[in-house]
Amino acid sequence: MSTSRSCRRFYANGSACGVPTTYHDGWCRECDGFTTSTPERSGRTPPPYRFGEIRAVSDIPVRPNDVAEIVCVHRAPLNQFRDRHPGTSYGEADTQIRRLLYDLLRHPADAKATRSVSGQWALTSVRPYGFSVLLTSDGKAVTGYSTKHAERTYAQVKAGVRTRTGTPNSARPGRVGKGLAQRVRDGLVPEDTARAAALEKGEKVAAAFERHLRRALAKREPADTAGEVQGDELREIVTMDPDGTEAAGQPRCGTGGGTTP
Ligand SMILES: [Zn+2]
Repeated sequence: MSTSRSCRRFYANGSACGVPTTYHDGWCRECDGFTTSTPERSGRTPPPYRFGEIRAVSDIPVRPNDVAEIVCVHRAPLNQFRDRHPGTSYGEADTQIRRLLYDLLRHPADAKATRSVSGQWALTSVRPYGFSVLLTSDGKAVTGYSTKHAERTYAQVKAGVRTRTGTPNSARPGRVGKGLAQRVRDGLVPEDTARAAALEKGEKVAAAFERHLRRALAKREPADTAGEVQGDELREIVTMDPDGTEAAGQPRCGTGGGTTP
C-alpha cells in the first residue's frame, strides 16, 4: 500500500513544497516539482550516448508488459539521473526511469529507437522531446539515462512545468495557460480547479486558458484498450519503493545488475 509522505520538491521561485504525496517519484503534482531550490545546484550534464555506428530502427525491443517483469535498472543510469536531478533518491530515480521507459514503449510513435552495431538500444522521447534510456541488446536492462533538459524531469516537462534556465520570464512562478491545460489533459488537475486558478489571475489569462483547455481536451487520448497495461499492473510497473529510501532503492536486477561504485 502506498503511504503518504511529504513532497520534497520546490516551486519555481525556490520555496519548498512539503505537502503530503503518495506518488512514488516523490512529486505531489501540486508544486512545480523542481528537485532543487535553484537551477544552479542542478543540471550536471551526463555525457551523451555515443554509438560508434548506429542504425535507425522502428522495432522496440520490449513491450510495456515486460517492464516490470524483466527490465532491471542498473546503478549507472540511477547515478546519471541523480546527477542530473539532484535531491532524488535511488528509489525515486528508479521509478522515474521505469515510467519514462514505459511511456516510450507504450507510445512508440512518440519515441525514436536507434541501435548500435553491437546491439545496444537507445530510446529517446520525441513528445516531450529529449529524454533517453539506453538498453542492453536483449532489452532487459537499462544501462544509461540522459536528457537534453537542463534540470526538469520527464514528468515535469510532460506536465508543462516551464524551465528555470531558459528565457528570463520563463522562471516566473504561478504559470497558467498551456501548461495547466496539459495537466488537466493528463488528469493531474481537475478542470474546475484549473478554471478557478485561471480566473484568479485575471480575465485575460482565463480567456487564454480556456482556449488552451479546449485544445488540450480535444487531444485527450481515448481510454486504454484491451491488451494495454492499466490499473494495478501499471502501478506495479512504476512502483519501486514507496518510501523512497536509499536502502530500498537498490537496482532490482536478478544477476549481474549494476556497477556499484
Ligand atoms: Zn510538491
